[in-house]
Amino acid sequence: MLDEFNREIDYVRISVTDRCNLRCVYCMPEKGLDFISHEEILTYEEIIRLCKSFARLGISKVKITGGEPLVRKDLPFLIKSIKEIDGIENVTLTTNGIELPSQIEELVRAGIDSINVSLDTLNKEHFKKLTRFDKIDQVLKGIKEALKYENVSLKLNCVPLNTQDEEDVLNLVALAKDNLIHVRFIEVMPIGMGRELEGLTEDDIKNLIISKYGPITPYKAKLGNGPAHYYKLDGFKGKVGFISAVSHKFCSSCNRIRLTADGYLKNCLQYASGRNLKELIRSGLTDDQLVEVIRLTINEKPKEHQFDEYNKKKIVDIRDKDKKGDISSNLDIDDLESRRMSQIGG
Ligand code: SAM
Ligand code: SF4
Repeated sequence: MLDEFNREIDYVRISVTDRCNLRCVYCMPEKGLDFISHEEILTYEEIIRLCKSFARLGISKVKITGGEPLVRKDLPFLIKSIKEIDGIENVTLTTNGIELPSQIEELVRAGIDSINVSLDTLNKEHFKKLTRFDKIDQVLKGIKEALKYENVSLKLNCVPLNTQDEEDVLNLVALAKDNLIHVRFIEVMPIGMGRELEGLTEDDIKNLIISKYGPITPYKAKLGNGPAHYYKLDGFKGKVGFISAVSHKFCSSCNRIRLTADGYLKNCLQYASGRNLKELIRSGLTDDQLVEVIRLTINEKPKEHQFDEYNKKKIVDIRDKDKKGDISSNLDIDDLESRRMSQIGG
């Protein structure tokens, strides 16, 4: 369906858990985490029912995310069930890859169309520092296993912080040379832990790539369901992509909504705006009523995020607490999302 700003909304990201087997520095604190209780997490039956309602409104693409989605039991069952819904054309997964070696076969059998693996470095020590776990070998094995399935498209996601080693970036890009993997760089966003961090920008990364691998050419054909834009490199099998929500804002073509693991339907990553669908379905809403609530939530989708305004305001706040709000903007801190990325699903 079209929202108030004429954007075609056809994509939902569904977080199936807020738990994870890693603790990436930009996503989760090392300690002191409260997780949603099992009663508060949407059941698979509830998620499937919601997907049927989304499909009635023209949503045809579903991304399964988390926390780490592969730590939730029987995920292939959910994927298969969503694939069977009339109107759903594409079901994809975002994972840290650790459980891929044990689950890839079942995921493929369930009909997964594409898999994104999040990986910020190929260096064992750097991985340990960034994720707080010594598990890079499992991730690399997961990627190797996934590459065996040529009909499942594979992408790699890296969130480069400003502390990132240049070699790390270049080694990740090198994966796209010999393998059909698209390597993407995501600018760190001021959500949850990301509010305290700064990342490399798209231009930083591009300059680095060009200095080592030569010129990059924009790739115009469509690749995937999201906001990434891609470049070709001579002699590379995969493409290099960028998701630059801060420096190259793409709100005017945003096609997505997000369902959190506790059943809240979000219509923008940065704001708390949306509806608690779990409460509504558990209080006996009919399917038609549910579709109307979702329609309303999509229609209220904000025009744009204000990540850049947030970052500038943060700088003012840090310099002088009394100058809070010094930068003129209509950004109201009270409207902002307080969930962490692991609770939203990215
Ligand atoms: N655990 C899975 C994974 O890591 O792919 C799925 C959930 S994770 C929250 C989804 C994506 O969000 C990952 O690619 C991760 O790198 C990204 N992410 C987490 N925090 C972020 C932040 N503050 N800014 C930008 N991307 C972030
Ligand atoms: Fe876990 Fe993914 Fe967040 Fe890393 S980015 S802590 S793997 S949910």
